[in-house]
Amino acid sequence: MDLRESFNNKGRLFVISGPSGAGKGTICGKVMERLGDTASLSVSATTRQPREGEVDGVNYYFLSKEEFEGRINNNGFLEYAEVYDHYYGTSRENVMDKLESGKDVFLEIDIQGAMQVKDSFPEAVFIFILPPSMEVLKARITGRNTDSEEVIDLRMSKAADEISYVEHYDYAVVNDDLETAIGDVMAIIRSEKIRTDFTGDELDEYISSFGDSIGNR
Ligand code: 5GP
Repeated sequence: MDLRESFNNKGRLFVISGPSGAGKGTICGKVMERLGDTASLSVSATTRQPREGEVDGVNYYFLSKEEFEGRINNNGFLEYAEVYDHYYGTSRENVMDKLESGKDVFLEIDIQGAMQVKDSFPEAVFIFILPPSMEVLKARITGRNTDSEEVIDLRMSKAADEISYVEHYDYAVVNDDLETAIGDVMAIIRSEKIRTDFTGDELDEYISSFGDSIGNR
């Protein structure tokens, strides 16, 4: 395996958050398409009802409250949170298995969950997707038309609070133009994959191979 490949061979964990309507789902979907099978978007478990068109095991694993609480008690979640009165969580085993197989894993999760990952997995990369303005966010949430007026208001007031957490993240990506935002996320991933603090043994071996080749002249 060549040096470049060996750097890319290590799975990294990327955590993506942002207020509802900021576009993180769309960005994650496009980024996954571009990364192909080197990356995997973690499928969360939730106790909320499936929306129209959502498929169990694809969009979420839809669990009952009892099933979810059972998994909490078995330490089955890398993180979990209660969002809008429903549980959402990331399976610890799924994430660890994928990372070990060398895949990059992406978690599209809320801030409470992201802060838990930061505590237990500080080497993860934290990306926050920002809407260009509150007006644009409101228009996006209203235009989506899947939620009631009450839910929209709840999401807007929550968004204002959530945005203040951007400082806890490593990167802030403004989703004013989708292509630019996707490009920003791709650039973050690319850069994170070649950080010297994650290239590890391969870089050490490379350095010593240079020393050896000079010694052998
Ligand atoms: P929705 O119900 O619209 O699919 O998601 C609502 C919120 O839950 C979003 O902010 C989404 O990022 C968050 N979410 C989805 N899956 C998880 C998860 O596994 N853990 C946490 N903490 N939040 C999640």
